[in-house]
Parts: sequence; C-alpha cells; structure tokens
Amino acid sequence: MILRMSGVAFDALSSPQPCAERARLFDAYLEAAEIYHHAGRRLMVHAGVTGQAEHIRIRDRCERARIIAEDAFRIAERHIAEHGC
Ligand SMILES: [Zn+2]
Repeated sequence: MILRMSGVAFDALSSPQPCAERARLFDAYLEAAEIYHHAGRRLMVHAGVTGQAEHIRIRDRCERARIIAEDAFRIAERHIAEHGC
C-alpha cells in the first residue's frame, strides 16, 4: 500500500509499525524477569543466613518468578510469530 504524502511516496506496509501488544508483552516479560532477578539475588544473599523455612519461602518465590518470566517470554515470541511484528 503506497500513500502519497506531500508528493513523497510512503510505503505503509514496509515501514516499521509499532505494535502496542508486542510492547505490552515485552514489558510484562521484563517485569517478571526483574522479579526473578531480585528473588534470585535475595536467595543468594540469604543462603546459610536464614532458617530453612525462610530459605524455602524465598526459593519458592524465585521459582515462581522464573516460571512466570519464561511464560511471558514464550507468549511474546508467539505473538511475534503470529503477528509478524
Ligand atoms: Zn504485534
């Protein structure tokens, strides 16, 4: 699709179009990855310092964050493949 703007040809299909959904999905991934990063750091810092119950609680939070981050990345990749953005 070629548009003419002020006498200049403008190819609307080949021009990069921002995809709001792609940006939203990657924001969700980055947020989940950041939570995972902080949980992992906390796990490392508290290793051998906290009691076993606290260690298990932090480890479980870290594992949940990892799974959420991986899911968010897969969803973003699937969107890109389906949407071609
Ligand atoms: Zn898209």
